[in-house]
Parts: sequence; C-alpha cells; structure tokens
Amino acid sequence: MIIGSHVSYGKDGLVGSVKEALSYGANTFMFYTGAPQNTIRKAISPEITKEAHNLMKENNIDINKVICHAPYIINLANNLDKRKYDFSKNFLKEELNRCEELGIKYLVLHPGSSVGIEREQALNNIVDALNKIITPETKTMILLETMAGKGTELGSSLEEIEYIIDKVNLKEKIGICLDTCHLNDAGYNMACFDDFLDMLDNFIGLNYVKCIHINDSKNLINTHKDRHENIGFGTIGFLNIERIVTNKRLEEIPKILETPYVGESDDSKERIYPPYKLEIEMLKKGEFEPNLKQMLREYYKK
Ligand code: FE
Ligand code: FE
Ligand code: ZN
Repeated sequence: MIIGSHVSYGKDGLVGSVKEALSYGANTFMFYTGAPQNTIRKAISPEITKEAHNLMKENNIDINKVICHAPYIINLANNLDKRKYDFSKNFLKEELNRCEELGIKYLVLHPGSSVGIEREQALNNIVDALNKIITPETKTMILLETMAGKGTELGSSLEEIEYIIDKVNLKEKIGICLDTCHLNDAGYNMACFDDFLDMLDNFIGLNYVKCIHINDSKNLINTHKDRHENIGFGTIGFLNIERIVTNKRLEEIPKILETPYVGESDDSKERIYPPYKLEIEMLKKGEFEPNLKQMLREYYKK
C-alpha cells in the first residue's frame, strides 16, 4: 500500500517534509511549497533537495509517487479581474517550475471557482489557461482534483472534469486526483466504489487517475460541504474507506490522508495532534480503532 499524508514544508524545505512523513510510518507524502493559503514562496536550495532525495531513497520512498499541491488561491476559472487571472496563471507556471526543480512528477490543482460568470465560460477559462501553461517541455503533470462543489467550485462532477481534459491539448500532461470526502459531498456513493471506478473508466479512463486523497466526511452524501473527518469517524465509514485503499485497481496509486488534527479534548478548538501515524496503522491493519483520538493524545503526550 502506497500511503501517506499531507505534511508541512517548513524551514528545512523538502527534508522536513520527508522526516515528517517518516515519523508517520508513511511511504509517500504530499506537500505544499509554502502555506496553502498564500503565495509567498522561498527559493529552493539544491543542497536541501539533494538531501531530501537521499533520505527518500534510504527509506524506500519513491519520489515518482510524491505529490505537490498548488495553493488554494490559484483560480483559473474566473477572468473578470484580469490581474488576478494572470497572477493565477503565472503562479501555477512557477509552481510547475518549482516541482521540476524538486524532481516532483505530480501537482494537484483545484480546478477553480466560477464566482459570477457562466459555468461553461469558467470551464473554458480553465482550459485556455491550462493550454497556455502546459507546454511540450513541461515535466510535471497537473492533476485536477475532484471537488465537493462548495459555492461555485468547478470539478465536482466527472462531466466537468471530462470537459476540461477533453479540451486540453497535451493529454499526457494532465491527470486526476480523486478525493473521497469531496466525491461523497459531490453526490458519489463511496459505498459502491467499484461502480464509480467503472463509470470513471468508461467516461474518462482510469489511467488518468494518479493520486487519491483519503478522507472521511463530516457531512452526508450530496451536501456540497467539504469538511474532512478522521478515518472511520464520518459518514463514509471505515469499511468503505478500507475497501478503497485496498482496491486492486488503485494499487499503484499514492493514497494521501488529509484528515483533521485532533485536539486535547473533543470540544477544544485547538487541533494539535496529527492523526496520520495511527490512521495509517489502522488502514494497514484493516481494523477500526474507536479509541483513535484518545490514543493520539496519549501517544503525543509521551
Ligand atoms: Fe485539495
Ligand atoms: Fe483533497
Ligand atoms: Zn477538501
């Protein structure tokens, strides 16, 4: 099982990300090249990158399966504010260059939000932007993430994902990142995951899927909310998620947890303990641990 979580990219860059992933017992990971909410980015140090690559090699982390996630601020769908639209395009281009420098093959992107323009026009803007950004020289593949459909978010249906991919010129450089919480919230039943994969395969092609985000959901199917929950504590449930992570058709696909941190007490606002080490163990064992949150508090108090 190729499984990890999103990790931070701190002062020591990619080395810090690898160390954090290893502390969770992961064999892959996903990172942002800075804070996901902003676009402040530091220059990449070749020494640190080399050190990170060595650390991955020593620990059997295949760099070809490591994922980078673009910041949420990028919106390729809306071109009403030309300055913002150009900023998004330039930033994505730079993000692809950073991935290339770091040796990362996949960059996950939220397709965008239409905010005030026709959905079809918004989809066409995404296509136009992608066709300008992706060139024959591009080495990192952009993965369109399936979204929950919160607000005016695009990419919450396979139809919209297909619409974009169909119009991208260089199809070998575009892919899909599934997200189980988003799919559930968008109305796809995760209890019938093989049916979903069949549909995706017939409609777009399973070969486009290069990553899957593994999250439970706080909300019921088709509620378009996008609030992640710890594995087994949400509406998708442990059994369904376990079937997804062990599905033979996605065996080679990296699985990335983006579940929430757990706080001191259930009603505390603070979310301080990363759940990933224990969630990974739980999924590998195939056994739900109802005391997960309590165990986390004990584990990190030591
Ligand atoms: Fe995402
Ligand atoms: Fe996600
Ligand atoms: Zn989400």
